[in-house]
Amino acid sequence: MRLKPALLATLVLATSIQAQKKPDAPTVQLSHDIFKQLIEINTTDSVGSVTAAAEAMRKRLLDAGFPAEDLVIAGPNDRKQNLVARYRSAPGSTLKPILIICHLDVVEAPQAEWATNPFQLVEKDGYFYGRGTQDMKDSDAILVTNFIRLKREGYVPNRDLILALTADEENGGFNGVEWLLKHRPELVSAEVALNPDSGGIDSEKGKPIDVAVEATEKLYGDFQFSAKNPGGHSSLPTRDNAIYHVTDALSRLEKYLFPFELNAVTRAYFEKLATLSTGQQADDMRAILKTPPDPEAITRLSATPRFNSIMHTTCVATMLSAGQAPNALPQFANANVNCRILPGYTQEQIRQQLIKVIDDPAVTVQYKDNAGHLLDKGTDRVSPTPPPLRPDIFGPLNKVVAEMYPGLPILPEMETGASDSVYTMAAGMPSYGINGVAIDVDDVRAHGRDERLRVSSFDSGVEFYYRFLKAVTTN
Ligand SMILES: [Zn+2]
Repeated sequence: MRLKPALLATLVLATSIQAQKKPDAPTVQLSHDIFKQLIEINTTDSVGSVTAAAEAMRKRLLDAGFPAEDLVIAGPNDRKQNLVARYRSAPGSTLKPILIICHLDVVEAPQAEWATNPFQLVEKDGYFYGRGTQDMKDSDAILVTNFIRLKREGYVPNRDLILALTADEENGGFNGVEWLLKHRPELVSAEVALNPDSGGIDSEKGKPIDVAVEATEKLYGDFQFSAKNPGGHSSLPTRDNAIYHVTDALSRLEKYLFPFELNAVTRAYFEKLATLSTGQQADDMRAILKTPPDPEAITRLSATPRFNSIMHTTCVATMLSAGQAPNALPQFANANVNCRILPGYTQEQIRQQLIKVIDDPAVTVQYKDNAGHLLDKGTDRVSPTPPPLRPDIFGPLNKVVAEMYPGLPILPEMETGASDSVYTMAAGMPSYGINGVAIDVDDVRAHGRDERLRVSSFDSGVEFYYRFLKAVTTN
């Protein structure tokens, strides 16, 4: 999750940022070659093959000396094979592995909308262009490069590193992380999971301003409000009207604010951001951290959508359909309400709360699953309680950031969207979105056209993970 420019304008940095560091020339070359290879293998759900990319990376690792038995290809069908690569520690290590999850699939990229061929890595004006340059073939290439670089150096980690290159994070029915956890748990079982798909260095005009680390995320849930009515002729209106029932319910929802709540991650986020902000905003951040929190400060901060979303479960009307003819009383009215639920709550709890808030038995509230089915009960899934900011991860992270970007603040974040970390978290692995690639806050092009990444940003991202992988696997 990248901060918005409006927010960043209020941040003040005390320390100047050191020039970005590049890896040695052979590593730069290798990483560019792998990046190019990955971009040029189409891995979209429609016509691409994740398997082709997984096989290509397996061959790279095999050629670099990884034993075949530590490079497992596994998946549900011909196009959706995942690669799980294990970098072994010295025999006798009692530490559980660290798992790194990286998806290989990309969203569709219609050629007509692009200035370049999205499935070719094009270098132009200091940028790499291509589908997946930001999300997330950059990280796929960075991790594979660093596995090879460390291997060539003869580096032995103090615990196994497992790299899972996976299918269907974006769409498609065969999410690779979910599939592996269900069908091949022995391959991916670990103490901690790292997911470079979230988090990252925020920059402005190439200048890093903070390192965002995703440490938890909200749960997604769609609900349908609906009312039915026998209808009739519109020249003879009745008081009972399906459209009014649903719009009244939406008005009540509009005025309702879910309770304020912070957790370990969002507390740390506001604590850090308070030190980087000034004036009323900084005071308000400190005031909401007190017990009890200051309600006026909550109201003021809630005016910023991002802060509002961090402090509350949110539910908002996103779609509406009603009526069957201009001159008939409506026989139905339906509204879609999209919720982003704070960790610790289930969709069913939120559904029950919505029923209470709208307080109208004529309006039905149903949960809508990913396939669009309407159910009378939400699932019992919860976004798990955020893990503590573990010192065995945050210590090494602090060290690498201090070496490469002295003074750059680290901001723990709660992703208000969703990533594959939901699966590793649900499997009991604390999961952190850690990524050393810098993207300008006004140049986020993931899923968009002309997706691109600064070449220098990619290079320093390679160096960042090289140092970080070493730091987390050194005594
Ligand atoms: Zn992604």
